[in-house]
Amino acid sequence: MDGKGLAERLRAEIAEEVRQLGDVGLATVLVGDDPASDIYVRRKHDAAQEVGIRSIDHRLPADASQEELERLVGELNADDGVDGILVQSPLPDHLDEEAAVRRLDPGKDVDGFHPENAARLYMGEPRFVPATPVGIMRLLQEYDVPLEGARAVVVGRSLIVGKPMSMLLLGANATVTTTHSRTADLGAHTGEAEVLVVAVGQVDVVTPDMVKPGSTVVDVGMNRTDDGLRGDVDPAAVEVAGLITPVPGGVGPMTIASLLRNTVEAARLRRC
Ligand code: NDP
Repeated sequence: MDGKGLAERLRAEIAEEVRQLGDVGLATVLVGDDPASDIYVRRKHDAAQEVGIRSIDHRLPADASQEELERLVGELNADDGVDGILVQSPLPDHLDEEAAVRRLDPGKDVDGFHPENAARLYMGEPRFVPATPVGIMRLLQEYDVPLEGARAVVVGRSLIVGKPMSMLLLGANATVTTTHSRTADLGAHTGEAEVLVVAVGQVDVVTPDMVKPGSTVVDVGMNRTDDGLRGDVDPAAVEVAGLITPVPGGVGPMTIASLLRNTVEAARLRRC
């Protein structure tokens, strides 16, 4: 499944929506100087600018206090020129990330991490949902992957990927099993999956013998190895699966496109 190609098309659509809306603003908050976080934030700015979203870069020093962080979030909540706010994770250890996220205006929480947005997803009334699972649903839709009544297995239960992924698949009437590090006999579950989503962060956690022949496999993993970027699924699974996402070029580009889509949606809702 070509996430890169689909994401390019989506970005063109989003650019058109931004033009119609006039002005859309996305603020990022980065605390400290972690090089990986700096790269992620810069990528988000580049992607936003490419579709015409005005991006606003806020940086706080590594020793910033919780109060300073929450004050900045409060200012961005109140700023009419800001439609979406992203607080880049991870924050330095001395800061309470959950508390900072709770301070976000849920209507500007385009990451979908605020408890109100998580609860809406849980209740079947999603507003902002974390970008990775949203992008995966769009990819499955693009490839006409049947979900209603299908057996879906999600490997991983993080708040960013696994849990919201399971909720979205459930909302699409799949029969969902969520697995994790304590799951006994992972392969017995994955081997039954017509749709398998793997979000662990460990190379080859799913091997070809754990994949149901003809199934759809979505590999979320991004693992930096000596051989370059690798997913969580052994690439040889391509011989067994009916459809599979490559790494890179599968889920990653869809995540960025979905984040931009959430930002446009936030701008639209704020103008209603
Ligand atoms: P987390 O570390 O937050 O969660 C990993 C999950 O995997 C946990 O639920 C953990 O279980 C489970 N797990 C760990 N080991 C095993 C195992 N041996 N068998 C089954 N389950 C296991 O990671 P994230 O969800 O944030 O990210 C997962 C991967 O996806 C990473 O590689 C990350 O880089 C990538 N990612 C990619 C994105 C993209 O756009 N392509 C976006 C976001 C993430 P437990 O809960 O029991 O600890």
